[in-house]
Amino acid sequence: MNQKSQARQQFDAIVVGAGPAGSSAALALARSGQRVALIERGEYAGAKNVSGAALYAPGLLAPLLPNYWEEAPVERYLTRRVLTFLSRDSAVSIDFRSNHFNQPSYNGFTILRPKFDRWLAGKAQEAGALLITSTVVDDLLYEGERVIGVRCRREQGDLYAPIVIAADGANSFLAKKAGLQRELRADEMTLGVKEVLRLDARTIEERFNLNGDEGMTNEYLGYSSGEVKGGGFLYTNRDTLSIGVVVQIASLAEKKVRAYDLLDQFKQHPAVAPLLRDSVTLEYSAHMIPESGWAMLPKLSRAGLLVTGDAAGFVFATGLFLEGINFAIASGLAAAETAKEAHTDGDFSARSLDRYRRRLESSFVLQDLKRFRHAPSFVTSERMQNVYPEIICEAAERIFRSDGTPRYKLGRTILNVMRGKVSLLSLLRDGWRASRALFF
Ligand SMILES: Cc1cc2nc3c(=O)[nH]c(=O)nc-3n(C[C@H](O)[C@H](O)[C@H](O)COP(=O)(O)OP(=O)(O)OC[C@H]3O[C@@H](n4cnc5c(N)ncnc54)[C@H](O)[C@@H]3O)c2cc1C
Repeated sequence: MNQKSQARQQFDAIVVGAGPAGSSAALALARSGQRVALIERGEYAGAKNVSGAALYAPGLLAPLLPNYWEEAPVERYLTRRVLTFLSRDSAVSIDFRSNHFNQPSYNGFTILRPKFDRWLAGKAQEAGALLITSTVVDDLLYEGERVIGVRCRREQGDLYAPIVIAADGANSFLAKKAGLQRELRADEMTLGVKEVLRLDARTIEERFNLNGDEGMTNEYLGYSSGEVKGGGFLYTNRDTLSIGVVVQIASLAEKKVRAYDLLDQFKQHPAVAPLLRDSVTLEYSAHMIPESGWAMLPKLSRAGLLVTGDAAGFVFATGLFLEGINFAIASGLAAAETAKEAHTDGDFSARSLDRYRRRLESSFVLQDLKRFRHAPSFVTSERMQNVYPEIICEAAERIFRSDGTPRYKLGRTILNVMRGKVSLLSLLRDGWRASRALFF
Protein backbone atom coordinates (compact mmCIF):
# COMPACT_ATOMS: atom_id res chain seq x y z
CA MET A 1 0.00 0.00 0.00
CA ASN A 2 1.48 3.39 -0.89
CA GLN A 3 1.39 6.43 1.42
CA LYS A 4 -1.48 8.15 -0.40
CA SER A 5 -3.86 5.19 -0.19
CA GLN A 6 -3.43 4.96 3.60
CA ALA A 7 -5.83 6.86 5.86
CA ARG A 8 -3.96 9.95 7.00
CA GLN A 9 -3.28 9.74 10.74
CA GLN A 10 -4.19 13.18 11.99
CA PHE A 11 -3.65 14.52 15.52
CA ASP A 12 -3.99 17.92 17.17
CA ALA A 13 -0.35 17.73 18.27
CA ILE A 14 2.61 15.39 17.88
CA VAL A 15 5.31 15.24 20.54
CA VAL A 16 8.62 13.60 19.65
CA GLY A 17 10.48 12.08 22.62
CA ALA A 18 9.00 10.80 25.89
CA GLY A 19 11.57 12.32 28.25
CA PRO A 20 10.42 14.84 30.88
CA ALA A 21 9.93 17.61 28.27
CA GLY A 22 7.83 15.48 25.90
CA SER A 23 5.73 13.68 28.50
CA SER A 24 4.95 16.94 30.34
CA ALA A 25 3.86 18.57 27.08
CA ALA A 26 1.76 15.54 26.09
CA LEU A 27 0.16 15.36 29.54
CA ALA A 28 -0.82 19.05 29.51
CA LEU A 29 -2.20 18.84 25.97
CA ALA A 30 -4.15 15.62 26.59
CA ARG A 31 -5.63 17.10 29.78
CA SER A 32 -7.05 19.96 27.70
CA GLY A 33 -8.77 17.48 25.41
CA GLN A 34 -6.31 17.56 22.50
CA ARG A 35 -5.56 14.42 20.46
CA VAL A 36 -1.86 13.93 21.07
CA ALA A 37 0.64 11.39 19.74
CA LEU A 38 3.75 10.96 21.92
CA ILE A 39 6.44 9.16 19.94
CA GLU A 40 9.41 7.50 21.64
CA ARG A 41 12.22 5.57 19.98
CA GLY A 42 12.92 3.51 23.12
CA GLU A 43 11.11 0.31 23.99
CA TYR A 44 9.42 2.29 26.76
CA ALA A 45 9.67 5.90 27.98
CA GLY A 46 12.91 6.20 29.95
CA ALA A 47 14.54 3.16 28.34
CA LYS A 48 17.10 5.43 26.64
CA ASN A 49 17.53 7.79 29.55
CA VAL A 50 20.48 7.76 31.89
CA SER A 51 19.18 6.84 35.30
CA GLY A 52 19.90 8.47 38.65
CA ALA A 53 19.27 12.19 38.85
CA ALA A 54 17.93 15.00 41.00
CA LEU A 55 14.60 16.51 40.06
CA TYR A 56 14.58 20.13 41.24
CA ALA A 57 11.58 22.48 41.34
CA PRO A 58 9.14 19.59 41.88
CA GLY A 59 6.18 21.98 42.14
CA LEU A 60 6.22 22.50 38.35
CA LEU A 61 4.12 19.40 37.71
CA ALA A 62 1.88 19.84 40.76
CA PRO A 63 -0.87 21.86 39.00
CA LEU A 64 -1.41 18.86 36.71
CA LEU A 65 -0.56 16.14 39.23
CA PRO A 66 -1.25 17.40 42.78
CA ASN A 67 0.96 15.72 45.43
CA TYR A 68 2.30 13.41 42.73
CA TRP A 69 5.38 12.58 44.84
CA GLU A 70 3.15 10.43 47.07
CA GLU A 71 2.56 8.10 44.15
CA ALA A 72 5.47 8.68 41.75
CA PRO A 73 8.65 6.57 41.93
CA VAL A 74 10.74 9.16 43.79
CA GLU A 75 13.74 8.06 45.82
CA ARG A 76 14.76 10.58 48.53
CA TYR A 77 13.88 14.22 49.33
CA LEU A 78 16.85 16.55 49.07
CA THR A 79 17.63 17.99 52.48
CA ARG A 80 21.42 18.16 52.08
CA ARG A 81 23.33 19.86 49.23
CA VAL A 82 27.11 19.62 49.17
CA LEU A 83 29.77 21.20 46.94
CA THR A 84 33.23 19.62 47.19
CA PHE A 85 36.56 20.81 45.83
CA LEU A 86 38.94 17.93 45.22
CA SER A 87 42.69 17.81 44.80
CA ARG A 88 44.45 14.52 44.10
CA ASP A 89 44.32 13.42 47.73
CA SER A 90 42.23 15.89 49.73
CA ALA A 91 38.79 17.49 49.74
CA VAL A 92 37.11 20.66 51.02
CA SER A 93 33.30 20.74 51.18
CA ILE A 94 30.58 23.31 51.64
CA ASP A 95 27.85 21.26 53.25
CA PHE A 96 24.39 22.75 53.47
CA ARG A 97 21.36 21.18 55.12
CA SER A 98 18.09 22.68 56.16
CA ASN A 99 14.95 21.51 57.87
CA HIS A 100 13.06 23.82 55.49
CA PHE A 101 13.99 21.39 52.73
CA ASN A 102 12.45 18.54 54.67
CA GLN A 103 9.20 18.52 52.75
CA PRO A 104 8.54 16.90 49.40
CA SER A 105 7.55 19.89 47.33
CA TYR A 106 10.18 22.31 48.59
CA ASN A 107 13.49 21.57 46.92
CA GLY A 108 13.36 18.33 44.99
CA PHE A 109 14.09 14.64 45.15
CA THR A 110 16.30 12.04 43.59
CA ILE A 111 14.78 9.82 40.92
CA LEU A 112 15.80 6.88 38.74
CA ARG A 113 15.00 7.98 35.21
CA PRO A 114 13.77 4.72 33.64
CA LYS A 115 11.17 4.40 36.42
CA PHE A 116 10.23 8.08 36.64
CA ASP A 117 10.05 8.72 32.88
CA ARG A 118 7.92 5.63 32.41
CA TRP A 119 5.57 6.77 35.16
CA LEU A 120 5.26 10.31 33.72
CA ALA A 121 4.59 9.03 30.19
CA GLY A 122 1.97 6.73 31.77
CA LYS A 123 0.26 9.80 33.24
CA ALA A 124 0.15 11.35 29.75
CA GLN A 125 -1.38 8.11 28.46
CA GLU A 126 -3.96 8.05 31.27
CA ALA A 127 -4.91 11.60 30.26
CA GLY A 128 -5.55 10.34 26.72
CA ALA A 129 -2.25 10.76 24.83
CA LEU A 130 -1.36 7.98 22.41
CA LEU A 131 2.13 6.73 23.35
CA ILE A 132 3.88 5.10 20.40
CA THR A 133 7.11 3.41 21.52
CA SER A 134 9.94 1.70 19.60
CA THR A 135 9.41 4.26 16.85
CA VAL A 136 12.08 6.61 15.53
CA VAL A 137 11.06 9.91 13.96
CA ASP A 138 13.28 10.34 10.91
CA ASP A 139 12.12 13.63 9.47
CA LEU A 140 9.63 16.49 9.52
CA LEU A 141 6.88 16.87 6.92
CA TYR A 142 6.19 20.31 5.43
CA GLU A 143 3.53 22.20 3.56
CA GLY A 144 5.43 25.16 2.18
CA GLU A 145 7.37 26.56 5.14
CA ARG A 146 5.04 25.05 7.73
CA VAL A 147 5.74 21.80 9.60
CA ILE A 148 2.64 19.59 9.33
CA GLY A 149 3.78 16.22 10.64
CA VAL A 150 6.57 13.70 11.10
CA ARG A 151 8.00 10.82 9.11
CA CYS A 152 8.31 7.73 11.29
CA ARG A 153 10.39 4.62 10.82
CA ARG A 154 7.38 2.28 11.04
CA GLU A 155 4.94 0.46 8.81
CA GLN A 156 1.84 2.47 9.62
CA GLY A 157 3.21 5.53 7.84
CA ASP A 158 3.57 9.18 8.73
CA LEU A 159 1.69 11.19 11.35
CA TYR A 160 0.16 14.61 10.82
CA ALA A 161 -0.69 17.51 13.14
CA PRO A 162 -0.72 21.30 12.81
CA ILE A 163 1.87 21.45 15.56
CA VAL A 164 4.91 19.30 16.35
CA ILE A 165 6.81 19.58 19.62
CA ALA A 166 10.45 18.48 19.35
CA ALA A 167 11.47 16.95 22.70
CA ASP A 168 14.09 14.63 21.26
CA GLY A 169 16.87 15.52 23.68
CA ALA A 170 20.51 16.58 23.39
CA ASN A 171 21.90 17.31 19.94
CA SER A 172 18.36 17.38 18.55
CA PHE A 173 18.11 15.92 15.10
CA LEU A 174 14.75 17.66 14.56
CA ALA A 175 15.93 21.15 15.59
CA LYS A 176 18.79 20.81 13.11
CA LYS A 177 16.57 19.40 10.36
CA ALA A 178 14.23 22.36 10.80
CA GLY A 179 17.14 24.80 10.48
CA LEU A 180 16.67 26.07 14.05
CA GLN A 181 19.93 24.75 15.53
CA ARG A 182 23.43 24.84 14.03
CA GLU A 183 25.98 22.00 14.26
CA LEU A 184 27.20 22.00 17.86
CA ARG A 185 30.89 22.11 18.67
CA ALA A 186 32.66 19.55 20.86
CA ASP A 187 33.47 22.27 23.40
CA GLU A 188 29.74 23.00 23.82
CA MET A 189 28.76 19.44 24.69
CA THR A 190 29.66 17.27 27.64
CA LEU A 191 29.46 13.54 28.10
CA GLY A 192 27.94 12.26 31.31
CA VAL A 193 28.95 8.76 32.38
CA LYS A 194 27.30 7.32 35.40
CA GLU A 195 26.89 4.22 37.49
CA VAL A 196 24.09 3.14 39.79
CA LEU A 197 25.49 1.28 42.80
CA ARG A 198 23.45 -0.92 45.13
CA LEU A 199 23.87 -0.10 48.84
CA ASP A 200 21.29 -0.87 51.50
CA ALA A 201 19.10 2.00 52.71
CA ARG A 202 20.28 1.86 56.33
CA THR A 203 23.95 2.12 55.33
CA ILE A 204 23.16 5.07 53.06
CA GLU A 205 21.38 6.89 55.90
CA GLU A 206 24.21 6.29 58.39
CA ARG A 207 27.02 7.03 55.95
CA PHE A 208 25.51 10.21 54.53
CA ASN A 209 24.04 11.50 57.79
CA LEU A 210 20.42 11.22 56.64
CA ASN A 211 17.20 10.28 58.39
CA GLY A 212 14.40 8.24 56.81
CA ASP A 213 13.47 9.67 53.41
CA GLU A 214 16.12 12.39 53.44
CA GLY A 215 18.61 12.52 50.59
CA MET A 216 21.60 14.50 49.39
CA THR A 217 23.43 15.67 46.30
CA ASN A 218 27.17 16.25 46.17
CA GLU A 219 28.69 18.09 43.20
CA TYR A 220 32.49 17.85 42.85
CA LEU A 221 34.91 20.27 41.19
CA GLY A 222 38.61 19.73 40.55
CA TYR A 223 40.28 16.33 40.51
CA SER A 224 36.93 14.50 40.02
CA SER A 225 37.47 14.73 36.27
CA GLY A 226 41.27 14.52 36.36
CA GLU A 227 42.82 17.00 33.93
CA VAL A 228 39.77 16.92 31.70
CA LYS A 229 37.32 19.82 31.95
CA GLY A 230 34.26 18.74 33.90
CA GLY A 231 33.14 17.63 37.32
CA GLY A 232 31.69 14.76 39.31
CA PHE A 233 28.54 14.04 41.26
CA LEU A 234 27.22 11.60 43.86
CA TYR A 235 23.52 11.39 44.74
CA THR A 236 21.70 9.18 47.22
CA ASN A 237 18.67 7.14 46.14
CA ARG A 238 16.60 4.88 48.40
CA ASP A 239 18.88 1.85 48.26
CA THR A 240 21.27 2.87 45.50
CA LEU A 241 23.79 5.64 44.81
CA SER A 242 24.17 7.49 41.52
CA ILE A 243 27.76 8.46 40.80
CA GLY A 244 29.20 9.96 37.66
CA VAL A 245 31.44 12.40 35.89
CA VAL A 246 30.38 14.99 33.34
CA VAL A 247 33.22 15.92 31.00
CA GLN A 248 33.65 18.26 28.05
CA ILE A 249 33.89 16.27 24.82
CA ALA A 250 36.58 18.52 23.24
CA SER A 251 38.72 18.25 26.37
CA LEU A 252 38.35 14.45 26.46
CA ALA A 253 39.62 14.25 22.89
CA GLU A 254 42.46 16.68 23.59
CA LYS A 255 43.71 14.78 26.66
CA LYS A 256 43.12 11.41 24.96
CA VAL A 257 41.45 9.77 27.95
CA ARG A 258 38.33 7.66 28.27
CA ALA A 259 35.43 8.97 30.30
CA TYR A 260 34.89 5.72 32.15
CA ASP A 261 38.56 5.68 33.24
CA LEU A 262 37.92 9.08 34.81
CA LEU A 263 34.86 7.70 36.60
CA ASP A 264 36.98 4.83 37.97
CA GLN A 265 39.59 7.30 39.15
CA PHE A 266 36.91 9.46 40.81
CA LYS A 267 35.46 6.42 42.58
CA GLN A 268 38.88 5.63 44.02
CA HIS A 269 39.52 9.11 45.41
CA PRO A 270 40.20 8.90 49.19
CA ALA A 271 37.26 11.23 49.91
CA VAL A 272 34.89 9.21 47.73
CA ALA A 273 35.90 5.55 48.03
CA PRO A 274 34.78 5.15 51.70
CA LEU A 275 31.31 6.42 50.74
CA LEU A 276 31.00 3.63 48.17
CA ARG A 277 32.45 0.80 50.27
CA ASP A 278 30.66 -2.57 49.81
CA SER A 279 28.41 -1.18 47.07
CA VAL A 280 27.73 -3.23 43.93
CA THR A 281 27.52 -1.77 40.43
CA LEU A 282 24.07 -2.40 38.94
CA GLU A 283 24.14 -0.28 35.85
CA TYR A 284 26.44 1.79 33.71
CA SER A 285 25.35 4.38 31.15
CA ALA A 286 26.48 7.40 29.16
CA HIS A 287 24.67 10.34 27.58
CA MET A 288 25.45 13.73 26.06
CA ILE A 289 24.50 17.01 27.77
CA PRO A 290 24.22 20.38 26.01
CA GLU A 291 25.96 22.40 28.72
CA SER A 292 26.75 25.73 27.12
CA GLY A 293 23.38 27.26 27.96
CA TRP A 294 22.65 30.67 26.51
CA ALA A 295 25.56 30.53 24.02
CA MET A 296 24.04 27.57 22.19
CA LEU A 297 20.40 28.57 22.30
CA PRO A 298 18.68 27.75 18.98
CA LYS A 299 15.75 29.55 17.44
CA LEU A 300 12.92 28.04 19.49
CA SER A 301 10.11 27.81 16.94
CA ARG A 302 9.04 28.07 13.33
CA ALA A 303 5.62 27.64 11.72
CA GLY A 304 4.17 24.37 13.09
CA LEU A 305 7.18 23.50 15.33
CA LEU A 306 8.34 24.18 18.91
CA VAL A 307 11.62 22.96 20.44
CA THR A 308 11.81 22.01 24.14
CA GLY A 309 14.15 20.67 26.84
CA ASP A 310 17.63 19.44 25.93
CA ALA A 311 16.68 19.72 22.25
CA ALA A 312 16.72 23.48 22.83
CA GLY A 313 19.85 23.31 25.02
CA PHE A 314 17.92 24.16 28.20
CA VAL A 315 20.51 22.87 30.68
CA PHE A 316 21.63 25.03 33.58
CA ALA A 317 25.18 23.93 34.36
CA THR A 318 27.29 26.31 36.42
CA GLY A 319 29.42 24.03 38.59
CA LEU A 320 27.10 24.77 41.52
CA PHE A 321 24.05 23.49 39.64
CA LEU A 322 23.34 20.74 37.13
CA GLU A 323 19.68 21.16 36.24
CA GLY A 324 17.97 20.03 33.07
CA ILE A 325 14.93 17.96 34.04
CA ASN A 326 13.09 20.90 35.60
CA PHE A 327 13.99 23.05 32.55
CA ALA A 328 12.65 20.27 30.32
CA ILE A 329 9.36 20.07 32.26
CA ALA A 330 8.88 23.85 32.36
CA SER A 331 9.57 24.22 28.63
CA GLY A 332 7.35 21.22 27.78
CA LEU A 333 4.49 22.82 29.71
CA ALA A 334 5.13 26.21 28.04
CA ALA A 335 5.08 24.51 24.62
CA ALA A 336 1.76 22.84 25.47
CA GLU A 337 0.25 26.19 26.52
CA THR A 338 1.45 27.79 23.28
CA ALA A 339 0.04 24.90 21.21
CA LYS A 340 -3.33 25.25 22.96
CA GLU A 341 -3.46 28.98 22.20
CA ALA A 342 -2.52 28.33 18.57
CA HIS A 343 -5.44 25.88 18.32
CA THR A 344 -7.82 28.39 19.86
CA ASP A 345 -6.69 31.04 17.34
CA GLY A 346 -6.39 28.53 14.47
CA ASP A 347 -2.99 30.12 13.81
CA PHE A 348 0.18 27.99 13.68
CA SER A 349 2.33 30.56 11.91
CA ALA A 350 5.87 31.43 13.02
CA ARG A 351 4.56 34.68 14.43
CA SER A 352 1.87 32.98 16.52
CA LEU A 353 4.32 30.41 17.90
CA ASP A 354 6.79 33.12 18.85
CA ARG A 355 4.66 33.36 22.01
CA TYR A 356 6.54 30.30 23.21
CA ARG A 357 9.78 32.26 23.54
CA ARG A 358 8.05 35.13 25.30
CA ARG A 359 6.49 32.66 27.73
CA LEU A 360 9.94 31.20 28.50
CA GLU A 361 11.42 34.68 28.86
CA SER A 362 9.02 35.35 31.70
CA SER A 363 9.96 32.07 33.46
CA PHE A 364 13.14 30.82 35.11
CA VAL A 365 14.04 28.90 31.93
CA LEU A 366 15.39 31.79 29.88
CA GLN A 367 15.95 34.12 32.83
CA ASP A 368 18.37 31.75 34.59
CA LEU A 369 20.14 30.81 31.37
CA LYS A 370 20.59 34.47 30.44
CA ARG A 371 21.54 35.71 33.91
CA PHE A 372 24.20 33.00 34.32
CA ARG A 373 25.27 33.05 30.65
CA HIS A 374 28.94 33.65 31.49
CA ALA A 375 29.07 30.78 34.00
CA PRO A 376 29.69 27.78 31.68
CA SER A 377 32.87 29.27 30.14
CA PHE A 378 34.05 30.54 33.54
CA VAL A 379 33.56 27.18 35.27
CA THR A 380 35.35 25.30 32.48
CA SER A 381 38.33 27.68 32.45
CA GLU A 382 41.69 26.02 33.17
CA ARG A 383 42.24 27.74 36.52
CA MET A 384 38.73 27.07 37.82
CA GLN A 385 39.06 23.43 36.83
CA ASN A 386 42.50 22.61 38.10
CA VAL A 387 44.27 25.46 39.89
CA TYR A 388 41.72 26.85 42.37
CA PRO A 389 40.43 23.50 43.71
CA GLU A 390 44.10 22.57 44.31
CA ILE A 391 44.75 25.91 46.08
CA ILE A 392 41.62 25.57 48.26
CA CYS A 393 42.60 22.04 49.31
CA GLU A 394 46.24 22.91 49.98
CA ALA A 395 45.33 26.06 51.93
CA ALA A 396 42.91 24.02 54.08
CA GLU A 397 45.61 21.43 54.69
CA ARG A 398 48.12 24.07 55.84
CA ILE A 399 45.51 25.80 58.04
CA PHE A 400 44.41 22.60 59.77
CA ARG A 401 47.84 20.91 59.97
CA SER A 402 49.28 20.90 63.48
CA ASP A 403 52.92 19.86 63.41
CA GLY A 404 54.50 21.91 66.18
CA THR A 405 55.84 24.67 63.87
CA PRO A 406 54.66 28.32 64.22
CA ARG A 407 51.56 29.17 62.15
CA TYR A 408 51.04 32.07 59.75
CA LYS A 409 47.80 34.02 59.78
CA LEU A 410 45.26 32.83 57.22
CA GLY A 411 45.89 35.53 54.59
CA ARG A 412 49.63 34.82 54.55
CA THR A 413 49.02 31.06 54.41
CA ILE A 414 46.73 31.45 51.41
CA LEU A 415 49.16 33.81 49.64
CA ASN A 416 51.97 31.31 50.23
CA VAL A 417 49.90 28.53 48.66
CA MET A 418 49.02 30.70 45.68
CA ARG A 419 52.61 31.70 44.97
CA GLY A 420 53.79 30.22 41.68
CA LYS A 421 50.31 28.83 40.91
CA VAL A 422 48.40 31.98 40.05
CA SER A 423 49.55 35.58 39.54
CA LEU A 424 47.87 38.53 41.22
CA LEU A 425 46.76 39.78 37.80
CA SER A 426 45.15 36.41 36.96
CA LEU A 427 43.51 36.37 40.36
CA LEU A 428 42.03 39.85 39.81
CA ARG A 429 40.90 38.87 36.33
CA ASP A 430 39.25 35.67 37.64
CA GLY A 431 37.64 37.61 40.49
CA TRP A 432 36.05 39.88 37.93
CA ARG A 433 34.96 36.90 35.78
CA ALA A 434 33.53 35.13 38.84
CA SER A 435 31.60 38.20 39.85
CA ARG A 436 30.18 38.54 36.30
CA ALA A 437 29.40 34.82 35.97
CA LEU A 438 27.92 34.05 39.37
CA PHE A 439 27.60 36.99 41.73
CA PHE A 440 26.31 40.24 40.18
C1 LIG B 1 24.88 11.89 33.49
C2 LIG B 1 23.79 12.92 33.54
C3 LIG B 1 23.35 13.40 34.77
C4 LIG B 1 22.34 14.35 34.82
N1 LIG B 1 21.89 14.75 36.05
C5 LIG B 1 20.86 15.62 36.12
C6 LIG B 1 20.30 15.95 37.38
O1 LIG B 1 20.70 15.44 38.41
N2 LIG B 1 19.27 16.85 37.41
C7 LIG B 1 18.78 17.42 36.27
O2 LIG B 1 17.83 18.22 36.37
N3 LIG B 1 19.28 17.09 35.06
C8 LIG B 1 20.30 16.21 34.95
N4 LIG B 1 20.79 15.84 33.73
C9 LIG B 1 20.22 16.50 32.52
C10 LIG B 1 18.88 15.86 32.19
O3 LIG B 1 19.05 14.47 32.06
C11 LIG B 1 18.31 16.43 30.89
O4 LIG B 1 18.37 17.83 30.92
C12 LIG B 1 16.86 15.98 30.69
O5 LIG B 1 16.79 14.60 30.57
C13 LIG B 1 16.25 16.63 29.44
O6 LIG B 1 14.97 16.08 29.21
P1 LIG B 1 14.38 16.02 27.73
O7 LIG B 1 13.01 15.49 27.86
O8 LIG B 1 14.59 17.32 27.05
O9 LIG B 1 15.34 15.01 26.95
P2 LIG B 1 15.60 13.43 27.24
O10 LIG B 1 15.37 13.11 28.65
O11 LIG B 1 16.93 13.14 26.65
O12 LIG B 1 14.48 12.74 26.39
C14 LIG B 1 14.51 12.71 24.98
C15 LIG B 1 13.72 11.50 24.52
O13 LIG B 1 13.56 11.56 23.11
C16 LIG B 1 13.76 10.27 22.58
N5 LIG B 1 14.17 10.47 21.16
C17 LIG B 1 15.31 11.06 20.72
N6 LIG B 1 15.33 11.11 19.38
C18 LIG B 1 14.18 10.54 18.96
C19 LIG B 1 13.62 10.29 17.66
N7 LIG B 1 14.24 10.67 16.55
N8 LIG B 1 12.42 9.65 17.60
C20 LIG B 1 11.76 9.26 18.73
N9 LIG B 1 12.24 9.48 19.98
C21 LIG B 1 13.43 10.12 20.09
C22 LIG B 1 14.84 9.66 23.45
O14 LIG B 1 14.83 8.25 23.41
C23 LIG B 1 14.44 10.19 24.82
O15 LIG B 1 13.54 9.33 25.50
C24 LIG B 1 21.78 14.87 33.63
C25 LIG B 1 22.22 14.38 32.39
C26 LIG B 1 23.19 13.40 32.35
C27 LIG B 1 23.60 12.85 31.02
